[in-house]
Amino acid sequence: MWFQEANRIFILPAGKIQWWLLNELREYMQVVFGKETVIADEMPPPAGVINRERGQIHSTGLIEEIARRGYPGMVLGVIDFDLFVPGLNFVFGEADPAEGVAVVSITRLKEEFYGRETGQDLLLQRTLKEATHEMGHLYSLKHCPDPGCVMHFSNSIAETDRKSKEFCPACTRTLKNL
Ligand SMILES: [Zn+2]
Ligand SMILES: [Zn+2]
Repeated sequence: MWFQEANRIFILPAGKIQWWLLNELREYMQVVFGKETVIADEMPPPAGVINRERGQIHSTGLIEEIARRGYPGMVLGVIDFDLFVPGLNFVFGEADPAEGVAVVSITRLKEEFYGRETGQDLLLQRTLKEATHEMGHLYSLKHCPDPGCVMHFSNSIAETDRKSKEFCPACTRTLKNL
């Protein structure tokens, strides 16, 4: 896949995302995946993919919108809007390895969503986990049975908090052998 050969990862804010969070994400992705990582100019959240009834964005539609913009590398879209795919109430993110595009929503990673007080570090840790997870899919990794591995599927914030932001030894080996 050409975008795996491309030497850059683009972090693309779709709408307003706090700068400190994007920058921490940029630094972490660069270390984990060993590619120059840059923050792209903000794009507006695409109005066409908002499902007004659900008040959510269909994440596959968002991925298609981003893919159409033709960034020369892998793209990680970051959005503060709730995402869903048909069949699931919500998703923290989605990845399309064929397009080289992944998206992560920070909406449900914020403590405010659960009626609790803001926790900046908690938001950061959760964002790094979900971003690493979706980027891992772009590198062909599948879901991992190890509940501590970042590639473990999580569909609740408790599961996200339970897993680490690291790849388990098996996933690390797969990543290194690519
Ligand atoms: Zn996944
Ligand atoms: Zn694993």
